[in-house]
Amino acid sequence: MQLKYHMVTIEDLVPAGHFLRKLEAVVDLSFVYEEMAHLYSRRYGRPPIDPVVMVKYLLLGFLYGIPSERQIEVRCADSNAFRWYLGIDLDERVPDYSTISQLRRRKPTFRKVFRRLFEEVVRQCVEKGLVSGKLVATDSTHVKANASRASEYLVEVQEEPGAYWERLDRYEEEGLAELERRTGKRRKKRTKQIKRDRRRTHKRVSRTDPEAGHMKRPGKSRGQYYLSHQTTDTDRGIITGVTVTPGDVYDSVPYLEQLEHIHRNVIPVQAAAADSAYDFPLAHRVLEEQGITFFVQPQAAHDRTNVELKRDAFSYDMEQDAYICPTGKQLRLNTLHRSASGLYWLYQADKRDCQSCPLREKCLSENDRRGARKLEHSYFASERQRHLAHRHDADYKDALKKRQIWCEGTFAAQKWGHNLTRVLRRGLGAAEDHCLLSATALNLNMRGTVIIIKVWRHMKVLCEETDKI
Ligand code: SF4
Repeated sequence: MQLKYHMVTIEDLVPAGHFLRKLEAVVDLSFVYEEMAHLYSRRYGRPPIDPVVMVKYLLLGFLYGIPSERQIEVRCADSNAFRWYLGIDLDERVPDYSTISQLRRRKPTFRKVFRRLFEEVVRQCVEKGLVSGKLVATDSTHVKANASRASEYLVEVQEEPGAYWERLDRYEEEGLAELERRTGKRRKKRTKQIKRDRRRTHKRVSRTDPEAGHMKRPGKSRGQYYLSHQTTDTDRGIITGVTVTPGDVYDSVPYLEQLEHIHRNVIPVQAAAADSAYDFPLAHRVLEEQGITFFVQPQAAHDRTNVELKRDAFSYDMEQDAYICPTGKQLRLNTLHRSASGLYWLYQADKRDCQSCPLREKCLSENDRRGARKLEHSYFASERQRHLAHRHDADYKDALKKRQIWCEGTFAAQKWGHNLTRVLRRGLGAAEDHCLLSATALNLNMRGTVIIIKVWRHMKVLCEETDKI
C-alpha cells in the first residue's frame, strides 16, 4: 500500500456554499460568553471548553436530527463540515459528549442560553422581513417524556384556580357594576368562591419524571408527556413563540400569555388562528381588546347537565334579557357567577313556576328538585358570537387552512428531522431546552420549511381534486 501526503487545511475541505458556512455568517453567538461568564472561574481549574462550541455542538444535533449527545460526538469527529463549524482542527479532539451532558445536568442556568438563542434567531428573522405578524397560528404537540408508565402512582392534589383567575378580576369588577345596573342587585366579592373552587383531585405522577404530565387523548397512546405550544408566523413558517408545559395542561392555559408576548416584544400581530381547543370565551375578549382578529375553529357545545331538557330547549329573548323555557316561563338574570375558569351570567327561573310545572322531572336535576332551573351564559359570549359570525367567510376558512398547514406541517417537520418525538433528559427545564433547540433548528434550516410547503401543495392538489376547498 502506498501512502500519500495531502497538503490541505480544513477550510479547503468544506464547500463554499455549505449550509454551515451560511449559518456561521449570519448567527452571531457571542452573547453566549456574556450569559455564561458567571459559570467560569478565572483563577481555578483547567482551561474550559469554549461555551460557544458547546452550544453549536447541541445545535448540530437538532439541525441534522442526531438524537443523542453521544452520537453527536461521533458525527463531529468524522465530519469536516461539523469540525469547521465548531472551530476544531483536523488533528484536534472533539469535546467529549459527557462534558456537555454533565454541564446541562449540573448547571441549570446554562439553559438560559437556549431561550436567548431562540429569541436571537427570531429577532434576525424579523429584521430580514421573514416575519410579518399578518396571521400567526398556534397549536401544541406532545413530546414523549423519558418516564415509564410502570412508575406511575396516584397523588391527591388541590385544584388550583384557573390559569386566568387573576385576569378575571378586572372583568368581574366590570361585570358586577353591570349586574347592579341591570338587576339592582349587589353581589359579594369572590373570596368565598375561591374556597369552594379549591376541590381536591387525583393526578397520575411518574416517579422517574415527576414533572411530566399524564396525557390521555383520543387517538394518542396514554402516558407521560410534555407539550410544546408553538406559535408560527404563516408568511414563511417562522416559529415565533415556544412554551413547554406538562402533558396534562390544556392548550388554552399558556395561549394568551404567549400571544401577548409575541405581540408586544416580537412583532405586532394582526390576526391569530387556532383550533377548537383555543375557543374559550376569555380569548375572544382579550384578542378583541388587543385589536387582533381571531380565527378559531368553533368548539362543539357540550351540555353536561344531567337532565332531559337541555339548553337548546330554551330560547333567548334579547329585548326582555331572559331565557324562555318550553312552557313559556322566563329565566331572568340572577347573578354573575365566577368559577375557577370563567365568568358567567346566571339566569334562573321562578321557583314557584318550576314547582308546579308538569315538565319538572325532565327539567330539574336531582340537586335542583326543590329549587328552580338555572342556565349559565358566558360573560364574554357576545365577543365570541361576533367572531364566529364570520366563520363561513372565505378569509376565515383560508386562515384555518393556513393554520392546519403551518402548525401541523411544522410539527411533522420537527418530528421527522429535528428530534421532537421524545425527550431523553428528565424535567420540565430539560424538555423546554429540547423544544427550543428544535424550533431554533427549524427556523435556521429552511429544509424543514421546504418540506412543509411541498406537503401544503400536495394537500391543496388533493383537496382541489376532491373538491373539498
Ligand atoms: S321546570 Fe321551570 S324552567 Fe323547566 S320547563 Fe318547567 S317552568 Fe320552565
